[in-house]
Amino acid sequence: MAVADAAPLTLRAGWLIDGVDGSAVPNAALRIEGGRVAACTPADAMPRERGGQLIDLSDFWVLPGLIDAHLHLWGLAAGDTAPPNMEVRLERARRQARALLLAGFTTVRDLGSPAAPLLRGERGPSLPRILAAGAGLTGARGPWLLPQPAWWEARVIRGPASARREAQRLCGEGVDVVKIGASTGPRGHDDDRAAARAQRRSRGHDADRAADRAVARAQRRSLRLGAAAGVRYAAGTDSVGGALTPHGPGNALEVALLGQELPPAPAILAATRDAARALGLADRLGTLEPGKLADLIAVRRDPRRDLTELQHVEFVMKHGQPIHPRARLFPSPS
Ligand SMILES: [Zn+2]
Repeated sequence: MAVADAAPLTLRAGWLIDGVDGSAVPNAALRIEGGRVAACTPADAMPRERGGQLIDLSDFWVLPGLIDAHLHLWGLAAGDTAPPNMEVRLERARRQARALLLAGFTTVRDLGSPAAPLLRGERGPSLPRILAAGAGLTGARGPWLLPQPAWWEARVIRGPASARREAQRLCGEGVDVVKIGASTGPRGHDDDRAAARAQRRSRGHDADRAADRAVARAQRRSLRLGAAAGVRYAAGTDSVGGALTPHGPGNALEVALLGQELPPAPAILAATRDAARALGLADRLGTLEPGKLADLIAVRRDPRRDLTELQHVEFVMKHGQPIHPRARLFPSPS
């Protein structure tokens, strides 16, 4: 059944964080029609319409669906030493994407993997909305000319004309976004300087750990400086799946980490409103306002008091369709 034909439904929220400014209102109701938010009112003011479904989340905090603005659906698994064949990778990446959706990530942006452009074509409620970059563009001495095995494709550009040509080729392949590797290393220059200074002061493994700590301190500092200057952040984990950074509830750890340097509201907005802006989708995603797609999640406790609550999402709706297995606990005829 097409989303547009789905029966309208009313969703009651004990508390609603609509994502417009990070504040919460008690006892709210959302009217959802054709997969979109049609109205948002105090629960008492919502007219009871016949034939619609009621989803009662009166004991929950309801927020916009989470967005991870930077990850990789590589189809990795523990013990892989080389990329498996594409069929295996695609099936694994599909399972990882599904895990993300069940964890509350209704939209993800894949910044480089061969599987994501294929998965994004699999429309339907079982996967998150996927924006895919496909191959990345990098200079001849760029950061992604990785030693083999190559987990994804980096195409070398050698000046403006070849950059244009490769970007047009990617667009012809149907990518949503073009990824460009412009720096010479995986970190920013300030991070590299901090790491180098720390390494000079230590030796061996201690030097590596000291370098990691120095990088973390530099990154925390730049986060604080940016926030003080009015910069808005989009949450992006750079998780690659597999054993090292499995996709799922752990992707929301990013919000809790942001919350160590930012107040809770902007940390939540980084994974909702501001991530939608970064993806160019603010006109349809990121907040729960009339006209927006009905992508939302519910958690038991106030995530502003404890951002790790976002790693315990109990209800997920994407484009007006309840997704989470526990969603069957909630619908009841009106
Ligand atoms: Zn990345």
